[in-house]
Amino acid sequence: MVTDKIDLSDVSLKMNCPKCSCENDFTLGQASHGESIACTKCGVTIKLVDNGSIDQAQGSVDRSLDELKKTIDSVNRKLGGR
Ligand SMILES: [Zn+2]
Repeated sequence: MVTDKIDLSDVSLKMNCPKCSCENDFTLGQASHGESIACTKCGVTIKLVDNGSIDQAQGSVDRSLDELKKTIDSVNRKLGGR
């Protein structure tokens, strides 16, 4: 079964460190709470500020989920709706 809603706060994203450009993982939950993360490579503190990018991410996640559901639906039909 595919759930209609996923918890966006668990969605992980990547952000490039402003200092060393190393990729760092964080979650939407961390970002929406305005938390900071430490770069895994150089240790610089990266402030995760919600500046509207989260809303954009939400929109793109919604669209992706929509596409995913359509794909799953079509696969289910091919499999005989089992
Ligand atoms: Zn860094």
